[in-house]
Amino acid sequence: MPGIRKFRKFRDVMKEVNKKGAAIYENPAGTHDLVVLSPYNINYIHSYAEDTPFFLGLAEGKLMGSECKKCHYRYATPRSHCMECGSETEWSELPLEGRVHSWTTCYFGSEEFLKETPFNLALVEFDGVDTLFLSRLKGAEERDIYIGMKVKAVFRKAPKYLVSDVHFVPAEPKAKK
Ligand SMILES: [Zn+2]
Repeated sequence: MPGIRKFRKFRDVMKEVNKKGAAIYENPAGTHDLVVLSPYNINYIHSYAEDTPFFLGLAEGKLMGSECKKCHYRYATPRSHCMECGSETEWSELPLEGRVHSWTTCYFGSEEFLKETPFNLALVEFDGVDTLFLSRLKGAEERDIYIGMKVKAVFRKAPKYLVSDVHFVPAEPKAKK
């Protein structure tokens, strides 16, 4: 296979394939796998339907959650019916500041986010809200993040109407451990 370079890391294989169209992956399983570039494209017309107010909210710098009309359980995400009692919910604005409930650092990701690895994902908790919101946490190194750390929402200036229109950053410039 003249001209085709071999790599042990799949990340390097992908770089090479994007440049040259083909590479060999030295698979830890012992095989040498030919990997090729095969572009495809699709326009997916997607309706947010009942979730629409959440995405329009992001564009206006608001986080829209849901609250049960009957038992008042509050959700940090869109939810048409209550998980606790089954009743209908209504939209309810969330605070823009919360705390890190837990977090993880992603060293791998889907195609869309691969170039941004490593990045941090946090489950954010809000006062008075019963469930958590999963979001990117930017502006903090992994070693500086801790459970209970105060974080605030930041919204994309030109909305793309994607969940990535919002991310979180530390609410206090110098985080104390
Ligand atoms: Zn309920």
